[in-house]
Amino acid sequence: MARKFLVLGEVRDGSLRNVSFEAIGAAKLAADGGEIVGVLVGDSVQNLGNELIQYGADRVVAVENVQLKQYTSDGFAQALLAVIEQEKPEGIFFGHTALGKDLAPKLAGKLESGLISDVTSIEEEGGNIVFTRPIYSGKAFEKKIVTGGVVFATIRPNNIEPLAKDESRSGDVAALNVDIKDLRTIIKDVVRKASEGVDLSEAKVIIAGGRGVKSEDGFEPLKELAQVLGGAVGASRGACDADYCDYSLQIGQTGKVVTPDLYIACGISGAIQHLAGMSNSKVIVAINKDPEANIFNVADYGIVGDLFEVIPLLTEEFKKL
Ligand code: FAD
Repeated sequence: MARKFLVLGEVRDGSLRNVSFEAIGAAKLAADGGEIVGVLVGDSVQNLGNELIQYGADRVVAVENVQLKQYTSDGFAQALLAVIEQEKPEGIFFGHTALGKDLAPKLAGKLESGLISDVTSIEEEGGNIVFTRPIYSGKAFEKKIVTGGVVFATIRPNNIEPLAKDESRSGDVAALNVDIKDLRTIIKDVVRKASEGVDLSEAKVIIAGGRGVKSEDGFEPLKELAQVLGGAVGASRGACDADYCDYSLQIGQTGKVVTPDLYIACGISGAIQHLAGMSNSKVIVAINKDPEANIFNVADYGIVGDLFEVIPLLTEEFKKL
Protein backbone atom coordinates (compact mmCIF):
# COMPACT_ATOMS: atom_id res chain seq x y z
CA MET A 1 0.00 0.00 0.00
CA ALA A 2 1.57 3.30 -1.10
CA ARG A 3 2.11 5.68 1.80
CA LYS A 4 3.35 9.25 2.25
CA PHE A 5 6.44 9.73 4.43
CA LEU A 6 8.22 12.85 5.61
CA VAL A 7 12.00 12.88 6.13
CA LEU A 8 13.73 15.62 8.11
CA GLY A 9 16.82 16.89 6.30
CA GLU A 10 19.20 17.59 9.17
CA VAL A 11 21.46 20.57 8.50
CA ARG A 12 24.80 21.11 10.16
CA ASP A 13 27.13 23.99 9.30
CA GLY A 14 25.06 24.76 6.21
CA SER A 15 25.18 21.21 4.78
CA LEU A 16 22.85 18.24 4.92
CA ARG A 17 24.05 15.32 7.03
CA ASN A 18 24.56 12.05 5.18
CA VAL A 19 22.18 10.24 7.53
CA SER A 20 19.34 12.34 6.07
CA PHE A 21 19.95 10.71 2.68
CA GLU A 22 19.96 7.31 4.39
CA ALA A 23 16.65 8.24 6.05
CA ILE A 24 15.22 8.96 2.57
CA GLY A 25 16.43 5.49 1.51
CA ALA A 26 14.66 4.07 4.59
CA ALA A 27 11.47 5.99 3.83
CA LYS A 28 11.49 4.64 0.27
CA LEU A 29 11.51 1.10 1.68
CA ALA A 30 8.61 1.93 3.99
CA ALA A 31 6.53 4.00 1.56
CA ASP A 32 6.10 1.17 -0.97
CA GLY A 33 6.11 3.47 -3.98
CA GLY A 34 4.39 6.31 -2.10
CA GLU A 35 5.50 9.91 -1.86
CA ILE A 36 8.60 11.05 0.06
CA VAL A 37 8.49 14.66 1.22
CA GLY A 38 11.73 16.18 2.49
CA VAL A 39 11.41 18.70 5.31
CA LEU A 40 13.91 21.46 6.03
CA VAL A 41 13.82 23.59 9.16
CA GLY A 42 16.15 26.52 9.92
CA ASP A 43 16.71 30.17 9.16
CA SER A 44 18.19 29.71 5.69
CA VAL A 45 17.75 26.17 4.43
CA GLN A 46 15.48 26.24 1.40
CA ASN A 47 18.52 26.21 -0.93
CA LEU A 48 19.25 22.64 0.24
CA GLY A 49 15.91 21.34 -1.02
CA ASN A 50 17.22 20.25 -4.42
CA GLU A 51 19.84 18.03 -2.80
CA LEU A 52 17.13 16.14 -0.88
CA ILE A 53 15.30 15.67 -4.20
CA GLN A 54 18.48 14.43 -5.90
CA TYR A 55 18.71 11.79 -3.16
CA GLY A 56 15.15 10.58 -3.71
CA ALA A 57 12.65 13.01 -2.11
CA ASP A 58 9.75 13.80 -4.47
CA ARG A 59 9.31 17.34 -3.17
CA VAL A 60 10.40 19.45 -0.20
CA VAL A 61 8.69 21.69 2.34
CA ALA A 62 10.98 24.26 3.97
CA VAL A 63 10.15 26.16 7.15
CA GLU A 64 12.40 29.19 7.46
CA ASN A 65 12.31 31.51 10.45
CA VAL A 66 15.05 33.48 12.24
CA GLN A 67 13.93 31.83 15.48
CA LEU A 68 14.96 28.49 13.98
CA LYS A 69 18.57 29.48 13.37
CA GLN A 70 19.70 27.27 16.25
CA TYR A 71 18.06 23.97 17.10
CA THR A 72 15.64 24.01 20.03
CA SER A 73 13.25 21.10 20.47
CA ASP A 74 10.47 23.60 21.15
CA GLY A 75 10.99 25.63 17.95
CA PHE A 76 11.64 22.66 15.65
CA ALA A 77 8.62 20.81 17.11
CA GLN A 78 6.36 23.77 16.26
CA ALA A 79 7.72 23.82 12.70
CA LEU A 80 7.34 20.06 12.19
CA LEU A 81 3.87 19.93 13.72
CA ALA A 82 2.78 22.53 11.15
CA VAL A 83 4.28 20.43 8.33
CA ILE A 84 2.62 17.26 9.67
CA GLU A 85 -0.70 19.12 9.91
CA GLN A 86 -0.39 20.24 6.27
CA GLU A 87 0.91 16.96 4.82
CA LYS A 88 -0.89 14.37 6.96
CA PRO A 89 1.80 11.69 6.39
CA GLU A 90 1.71 8.07 7.47
CA GLY A 91 5.20 8.41 8.92
CA ILE A 92 8.14 10.68 9.60
CA PHE A 93 11.81 9.64 9.68
CA PHE A 94 14.81 11.29 11.34
CA GLY A 95 18.49 10.40 11.61
CA HIS A 96 19.35 8.71 14.91
CA THR A 97 21.45 11.74 15.87
CA ALA A 98 21.41 13.96 18.95
CA LEU A 99 18.76 16.08 17.19
CA GLY A 100 16.66 13.14 16.02
CA LYS A 101 16.83 11.43 19.42
CA ASP A 102 15.57 14.62 21.06
CA LEU A 103 12.92 15.72 18.57
CA ALA A 104 11.27 12.49 17.40
CA PRO A 105 10.06 11.34 20.86
CA LYS A 106 8.80 14.83 21.65
CA LEU A 107 6.67 14.90 18.50
CA ALA A 108 5.54 11.28 18.83
CA GLY A 109 4.45 12.03 22.40
CA LYS A 110 2.52 15.13 21.34
CA LEU A 111 0.69 13.17 18.64
CA GLU A 112 0.29 10.09 20.88
CA SER A 113 1.99 8.00 18.21
CA GLY A 114 4.51 5.16 18.33
CA LEU A 115 8.23 5.76 17.94
CA ILE A 116 10.82 3.20 16.87
CA SER A 117 14.32 4.43 17.56
CA ASP A 118 17.72 3.35 16.25
CA VAL A 119 16.36 1.45 13.24
CA THR A 120 18.92 -0.60 11.30
CA SER A 121 16.69 -2.15 8.63
CA ILE A 122 13.14 -2.02 7.25
CA GLU A 123 11.05 -4.61 5.41
CA GLU A 124 7.47 -4.86 4.26
CA GLU A 125 5.67 -7.97 5.55
CA GLY A 126 1.99 -8.64 4.91
CA GLY A 127 1.14 -4.95 4.54
CA ASN A 128 3.04 -4.00 7.73
CA ILE A 129 6.28 -2.02 7.85
CA VAL A 130 8.62 -4.10 9.99
CA PHE A 131 11.46 -2.20 11.68
CA THR A 132 14.56 -3.96 13.04
CA ARG A 133 16.51 -2.38 15.90
CA PRO A 134 19.29 -3.58 18.22
CA ILE A 135 18.56 -4.22 21.89
CA TYR A 136 20.67 -5.18 24.94
CA SER A 137 23.61 -3.09 23.71
CA GLY A 138 23.59 -4.77 20.30
CA LYS A 139 23.53 -8.38 21.58
CA ALA A 140 20.10 -9.05 20.05
CA PHE A 141 17.75 -7.51 17.51
CA GLU A 142 14.00 -7.00 17.76
CA LYS A 143 11.41 -6.50 15.02
CA LYS A 144 8.64 -3.98 15.60
CA ILE A 145 5.57 -2.63 13.87
CA VAL A 146 3.51 0.45 14.70
CA THR A 147 -0.18 -0.38 14.84
CA GLY A 148 -1.73 3.09 14.82
CA GLY A 149 -1.07 6.81 14.35
CA VAL A 150 1.83 8.42 12.55
CA VAL A 151 4.92 6.18 12.42
CA PHE A 152 7.97 7.92 13.92
CA ALA A 153 11.39 6.36 13.41
CA THR A 154 15.02 7.37 13.87
CA ILE A 155 17.49 5.71 11.48
CA ARG A 156 20.92 4.63 12.71
CA PRO A 157 23.70 6.11 10.53
CA ASN A 158 25.64 3.80 8.17
CA ASN A 159 23.06 0.98 8.09
CA ILE A 160 20.51 1.71 5.37
CA GLU A 161 21.96 2.60 1.97
CA PRO A 162 21.02 6.00 0.56
CA LEU A 163 19.83 6.07 -3.05
CA ALA A 164 22.45 7.10 -5.57
CA LYS A 165 22.46 10.87 -6.12
CA ASP A 166 20.63 11.71 -9.35
CA GLU A 167 21.32 15.29 -10.43
CA SER A 168 18.67 15.11 -13.16
CA ARG A 169 15.84 14.73 -10.62
CA SER A 170 13.72 17.79 -9.95
CA GLY A 171 10.77 18.59 -7.73
CA ASP A 172 8.97 21.38 -5.93
CA VAL A 173 10.68 23.10 -2.98
CA ALA A 174 7.89 25.03 -1.25
CA ALA A 175 8.11 27.40 1.71
CA LEU A 176 5.73 27.02 4.63
CA ASN A 177 5.41 30.00 6.94
CA VAL A 178 5.07 29.03 10.58
CA ASP A 179 4.63 31.52 13.40
CA ILE A 180 7.16 30.28 15.96
CA LYS A 181 6.05 31.60 19.34
CA ASP A 182 6.52 31.34 23.10
CA LEU A 183 9.89 29.61 22.83
CA ARG A 184 10.96 28.49 26.28
CA THR A 185 14.60 28.18 25.26
CA ILE A 186 16.55 30.83 23.40
CA ILE A 187 20.11 29.99 22.38
CA LYS A 188 22.27 33.09 22.63
CA ASP A 189 25.57 31.60 21.61
CA VAL A 190 27.09 28.25 20.70
CA VAL A 191 30.61 27.53 21.92
CA ARG A 192 32.02 24.54 20.09
CA LYS A 193 34.89 22.34 21.03
CA ALA A 194 37.24 22.33 18.07
CA SER A 195 36.73 19.08 16.21
CA GLU A 196 38.78 18.05 13.24
CA GLY A 197 37.97 15.83 10.31
CA VAL A 198 35.14 13.39 9.79
CA ASP A 199 32.12 13.14 12.13
CA LEU A 200 32.55 10.02 14.27
CA SER A 201 28.94 8.82 14.17
CA GLU A 202 28.82 8.89 10.35
CA ALA A 203 32.42 7.87 9.62
CA LYS A 204 32.98 4.93 7.27
CA VAL A 205 36.40 4.28 8.83
CA ILE A 206 37.24 4.67 12.53
CA ILE A 207 40.66 4.31 14.13
CA ALA A 208 40.00 3.95 17.87
CA GLY A 209 42.59 4.14 20.63
CA GLY A 210 42.48 2.73 24.14
CA ARG A 211 44.59 2.87 27.24
CA GLY A 212 47.32 1.11 25.26
CA VAL A 213 47.90 4.39 23.39
CA LYS A 214 49.43 5.59 26.70
CA SER A 215 49.25 9.40 26.26
CA GLU A 216 47.70 12.27 24.33
CA ASP A 217 50.72 12.23 21.99
CA GLY A 218 50.18 8.49 21.52
CA PHE A 219 47.06 9.36 19.49
CA GLU A 220 49.18 11.06 16.79
CA PRO A 221 49.89 7.88 14.74
CA LEU A 222 46.14 7.04 14.93
CA LYS A 223 45.27 10.52 13.63
CA GLU A 224 47.71 10.12 10.76
CA LEU A 225 46.25 6.75 9.77
CA ALA A 226 42.72 8.19 10.02
CA GLN A 227 43.73 11.04 7.75
CA VAL A 228 45.21 8.69 5.14
CA LEU A 229 42.03 6.55 5.17
CA GLY A 230 39.63 9.55 5.29
CA GLY A 231 38.33 8.31 8.64
CA ALA A 232 37.70 9.58 12.16
CA VAL A 233 39.49 8.94 15.45
CA GLY A 234 37.54 7.34 18.32
CA ALA A 235 38.47 6.09 21.78
CA SER A 236 37.63 3.71 24.59
CA ARG A 237 36.46 5.10 27.88
CA GLY A 238 39.78 3.92 29.31
CA ALA A 239 41.58 6.42 27.06
CA CYS A 240 39.09 9.21 27.87
CA ASP A 241 39.28 8.58 31.64
CA ALA A 242 43.07 8.70 31.42
CA ASP A 243 42.74 12.14 29.79
CA TYR A 244 44.44 11.06 26.57
CA CYS A 245 41.53 12.48 24.55
CA ASP A 246 38.16 14.20 24.83
CA TYR A 247 35.02 12.35 25.95
CA SER A 248 33.34 13.33 22.67
CA LEU A 249 35.44 10.52 21.11
CA GLN A 250 34.19 7.81 23.49
CA ILE A 251 32.62 4.78 21.83
CA GLY A 252 30.56 2.26 23.77
CA GLN A 253 27.60 1.74 26.03
CA THR A 254 27.93 5.19 27.60
CA GLY A 255 29.50 6.79 24.51
CA LYS A 256 28.66 6.80 20.82
CA VAL A 257 27.34 3.78 18.95
CA VAL A 258 29.08 3.45 15.59
CA THR A 259 28.76 1.11 12.61
CA PRO A 260 31.55 2.01 10.18
CA ASP A 261 32.69 -0.18 7.29
CA LEU A 262 36.10 -0.51 8.99
CA TYR A 263 36.90 -0.21 12.72
CA ILE A 264 40.55 -0.46 13.76
CA ALA A 265 40.84 -0.92 17.55
CA CYS A 266 44.32 -0.03 18.81
CA GLY A 267 45.36 -0.91 22.36
CA ILE A 268 41.75 -1.61 23.40
CA SER A 269 41.10 -4.71 25.54
CA GLY A 270 37.50 -5.23 24.35
CA ALA A 271 35.43 -4.72 27.51
CA ILE A 272 31.75 -5.55 27.02
CA GLN A 273 30.84 -1.87 27.44
CA HIS A 274 33.18 -0.94 24.57
CA LEU A 275 31.88 -3.74 22.34
CA ALA A 276 28.34 -2.38 22.86
CA GLY A 277 29.32 0.64 20.78
CA MET A 278 31.24 -0.95 17.91
CA SER A 279 30.59 -4.69 17.56
CA ASN A 280 28.21 -4.14 14.63
CA SER A 281 30.97 -2.54 12.54
CA LYS A 282 31.25 -4.29 9.18
CA VAL A 283 34.97 -5.20 9.43
CA ILE A 284 36.86 -5.05 12.74
CA VAL A 285 40.65 -5.06 12.95
CA ALA A 286 42.28 -5.31 16.38
CA ILE A 287 45.87 -4.41 17.22
CA ASN A 288 46.88 -5.52 20.71
CA LYS A 289 50.04 -6.75 22.43
CA ASP A 290 48.07 -9.34 24.39
CA PRO A 291 47.02 -12.35 22.27
CA GLU A 292 44.36 -13.18 24.91
CA ALA A 293 42.67 -9.74 24.69
CA ASN A 294 38.88 -10.04 24.39
CA ILE A 295 38.80 -7.66 21.41
CA PHE A 296 40.18 -10.53 19.26
CA ASN A 297 36.91 -12.44 19.89
CA VAL A 298 34.95 -9.88 17.83
CA ALA A 299 37.72 -8.99 15.36
CA ASP A 300 37.67 -10.16 11.74
CA TYR A 301 41.44 -9.56 11.57
CA GLY A 302 43.79 -9.51 14.54
CA ILE A 303 47.35 -8.23 14.74
CA VAL A 304 49.26 -9.22 17.87
CA GLY A 305 51.89 -6.53 18.27
CA ASP A 306 52.86 -3.12 19.55
CA LEU A 307 50.54 -0.51 18.08
CA PHE A 308 53.39 2.01 17.85
CA GLU A 309 55.16 -0.35 15.43
CA VAL A 310 52.11 -1.67 13.58
CA ILE A 311 50.21 1.59 12.89
CA PRO A 312 53.08 3.43 11.11
CA LEU A 313 53.58 0.33 8.91
CA LEU A 314 49.86 0.31 8.01
CA THR A 315 49.93 4.05 7.32
CA GLU A 316 52.91 3.68 4.97
CA GLU A 317 51.23 0.81 3.10
CA PHE A 318 47.89 2.66 2.75
CA LYS A 319 49.73 5.75 1.47
CA LYS A 320 50.98 3.65 -1.46
CA LEU A 321 47.41 2.81 -2.59
P1 FAD B 1 42.32 -1.53 29.08
O1 FAD B 1 41.26 -2.48 29.45
O2 FAD B 1 43.32 -1.13 30.10
O3 FAD B 1 43.09 -2.17 27.82
C1 FAD B 1 44.25 -1.64 27.26
C2 FAD B 1 44.72 -2.65 26.22
O4 FAD B 1 45.83 -2.09 25.53
C3 FAD B 1 45.18 -3.97 26.80
O5 FAD B 1 44.45 -5.02 26.16
C4 FAD B 1 46.66 -4.05 26.45
O6 FAD B 1 47.07 -5.37 26.13
C5 FAD B 1 46.72 -3.15 25.24
N1 FAD B 1 48.04 -2.53 25.02
C6 FAD B 1 48.83 -1.88 25.93
N2 FAD B 1 49.91 -1.36 25.31
C7 FAD B 1 49.82 -1.68 24.00
C8 FAD B 1 50.63 -1.43 22.87
N3 FAD B 1 51.76 -0.70 22.94
N4 FAD B 1 50.24 -1.94 21.67
C9 FAD B 1 49.09 -2.67 21.55
N5 FAD B 1 48.29 -2.93 22.62
C10 FAD B 1 48.64 -2.44 23.81
N6 FAD B 1 34.29 1.58 28.08
C11 FAD B 1 34.21 2.04 26.81
O7 FAD B 1 35.16 1.91 26.03
N7 FAD B 1 33.07 2.66 26.39
C12 FAD B 1 31.99 2.84 27.17
O8 FAD B 1 31.00 3.43 26.73
C13 FAD B 1 32.06 2.35 28.52
N8 FAD B 1 30.99 2.48 29.35
C14 FAD B 1 31.06 1.93 30.60
C15 FAD B 1 29.94 1.97 31.43
C16 FAD B 1 29.99 1.40 32.68
C17 FAD B 1 28.78 1.44 33.56
C18 FAD B 1 31.19 0.80 33.13
C19 FAD B 1 31.26 0.15 34.51
C20 FAD B 1 32.31 0.76 32.34
C21 FAD B 1 32.27 1.33 31.08
N9 FAD B 1 33.37 1.31 30.21
C22 FAD B 1 33.26 1.75 28.94
C23 FAD B 1 34.71 0.90 30.70
C24 FAD B 1 35.10 -0.50 30.32
O9 FAD B 1 34.60 -1.41 31.29
C25 FAD B 1 36.66 -0.64 30.28
O10 FAD B 1 37.18 -0.25 31.51
C26 FAD B 1 37.31 0.21 29.18
O11 FAD B 1 36.67 -0.02 27.95
C27 FAD B 1 38.77 -0.19 29.07
O12 FAD B 1 39.41 0.63 28.15
P2 FAD B 1 40.66 0.09 27.33
O13 FAD B 1 40.33 -1.14 26.59
O14 FAD B 1 41.21 1.24 26.58
O15 FAD B 1 41.73 -0.18 28.51
